[in-house]
Amino acid sequence: MQNVETRGLVLFSRNYREQDKLVKIFTESFGKRMFFVKNAGKSKFSSSLQNFTQLDLLAAINEEGLSFISDISEAVSYKYINADIFAQAYASYIISLADVAIADNQYDAALYGFLIKALELIENRVDMEVVTNIFELQLMSRFGAQLDFSQCVFCHRTDLPMDFSYKFNGCLCRNHFDQDMKREHIAPNVIFLCHSFMAVNLETLPSINLSDDLKKQIRSFIDALYDHYIGVHVKAKKFIDGLGDWADIMK
Ligand SMILES: [Zn+2]
Repeated sequence: MQNVETRGLVLFSRNYREQDKLVKIFTESFGKRMFFVKNAGKSKFSSSLQNFTQLDLLAAINEEGLSFISDISEAVSYKYINADIFAQAYASYIISLADVAIADNQYDAALYGFLIKALELIENRVDMEVVTNIFELQLMSRFGAQLDFSQCVFCHRTDLPMDFSYKFNGCLCRNHFDQDMKREHIAPNVIFLCHSFMAVNLETLPSINLSDDLKKQIRSFIDALYDHYIGVHVKAKKFIDGLGDWADIMK
């Protein structure tokens, strides 16, 4: 057991026995850890351990088994994400994806920073669908899928309209469309945007305005990529898939 100081994000918590809680925290310095909180209701930490809360914590990290919180010096929660059902759904989804993308106890400060930045953008009302698409595309490599939307797999040209081919796990320029009779017929601007999303840095994200129709096409392409290459099904995603109907009703 080592005593450490680290930042962390509460992924979820669940009741354990009558009074206690298990809280899963993605720590910046030690990866995802499960913490045991005794008498959670009466604990001085209870208000800090809500979902979507960022913490500065002092903790006893156990290499095997549960870890323990000694102190929390700062806890910051996301007001908009907690208040808006759509923002909350998207935040839950990217948090769940980050959770399944790496094993517990595995150090990944880059992913931690990427997740926090994505949440900050959603909190600051940057288009949450776009932020989520960028997160999904850039996370694919964590699952072992390295896709390149920038060039044709045959001639490596980058300047022609592209389509996607599952047969070749990459893009075909229009001179090579005939290589795969079952190519996907994805609109070239969808491929182009996916390439841009793959390469963009969230720290310097320019403002992006996309039509609803284009967003729908990107959504369904990424869904198909995840079905084909990733194969994880996160509960929070189902909720997002149903949100479209809600948005129409609320209009
Ligand atoms: Zn080509």
